[in-house]
Amino acid sequence: MEMIEAKNLVYEYIRRDEEGNVEGIIRAVDGVTMEVKRGDFVAILGHNGSGKSTIAKQINAILEPTEGTLFVNGIDVAEEENIWDVRQTAGMVFQNPDNQIIASVVEEDVAFGPENLGVPTEEIWERVAESLQAVGMTEYRYHSPNKLSGGQKQRVAIAGIMAMKPKCIVLDEPTAMLDPNGRKEVIKTLHELNEKEQVTVLLITHYMDEVIHADKVIVMDDGKVVMQGTPREVFSKVAELKKHRLDVPQVTELAYELQQAGVPLPNGILTVEEFTEALLAVKGKY
Ligand code: ADP
Ligand code: MG
Repeated sequence: MEMIEAKNLVYEYIRRDEEGNVEGIIRAVDGVTMEVKRGDFVAILGHNGSGKSTIAKQINAILEPTEGTLFVNGIDVAEEENIWDVRQTAGMVFQNPDNQIIASVVEEDVAFGPENLGVPTEEIWERVAESLQAVGMTEYRYHSPNKLSGGQKQRVAIAGIMAMKPKCIVLDEPTAMLDPNGRKEVIKTLHELNEKEQVTVLLITHYMDEVIHADKVIVMDDGKVVMQGTPREVFSKVAELKKHRLDVPQVTELAYELQQAGVPLPNGILTVEEFTEALLAVKGKY
């Protein structure tokens, strides 16, 4: 059993006029079959409007499948009585940290989730301490969230989800409103949680450089899965990515352009280190 399993999943937004007549149908998710294995770090990439957020909402049982099936840790999201189980299994983090932080002290904010789940008080404070530690925010425990940077706020939001002990975290463009440092902090935190706490991570983003260390990348366009594989497999296909209106990481692009110009570099270079090494190897041949 995988952590997330979608088969021929469809979601249609139906627009109605005042009398309730159907005016239009938008097929936002159009026959998606995909899986996220337990313990994996999987990224979904896609241009605006490709259906990423709609899938995230389906995984969180906010939107029901129009067709097809979706299981989260073996739980069918389409069954009304499973909603709370699903939401406890897959915690969600959204784009705007300001909409997710509610308390006036960091530790209270992190405690909010487990309090709502009815976790005994003593255990709540243990979980708060562990979660803040896991996201590297312990020293801000008694601070006001207002004064934190965007990246720090997102880490507090992630700690709040971790305190509910989900098996999986789904993040819908969690870095879209952050500066480059904030983005790096959040991505690093996610990898640490994935490695140390064995939390399955599903990261939705349109930043290519955030996904180079993922176990798997799924590319969506127009409601469909159009590419998937390891980052190296996916980023080897620069022309295809561009067709889906995605930019590859800068260093991958540079290597690709050089390759097109006749420099014998390997496909799918992802980091500056790899690039330097490959270029030195080429230089050695001349
Ligand atoms: P992404 O997150 O990849 O940008 P979305 O899942 O938000 O994509 O949107 C997919 C498609 O569904 C888009 O065409 C979008 O306009 C449409 N859509 C999203 N939300 C709604 C909504 N509440 N009502 C109608 N159409 C919507
Ligand atoms: Mg979106």
